[in-house]
Amino acid sequence: MPDGLAARLTTSLCRLRGTDHLRPRCAALGGQVGQRVRCGIYEWRPSPCREFDAGSDACLHARRQHGLERAA
Ligand code: SF4
Repeated sequence: MPDGLAARLTTSLCRLRGTDHLRPRCAALGGQVGQRVRCGIYEWRPSPCREFDAGSDACLHARRQHGLERAA
């Protein structure tokens, strides 16, 4: 993962910058939310990103925080 994208929380745990904001937006996300976006590090994205399910409760929560009511 490129330097600067992750903030270290503990010696073994990092968080992608921007994902803890009130309206979360990962520093690796390119494009315009609600229009068209893409992960800038897709091939190297961490395991939580690989395990995140579109349409899950967490997904729908994040969408609501951006004013997007419907599931993708
Ligand atoms: S999939 Fe990519 S843009 Fe989305 S949170 Fe993970 S690293 Fe960030």
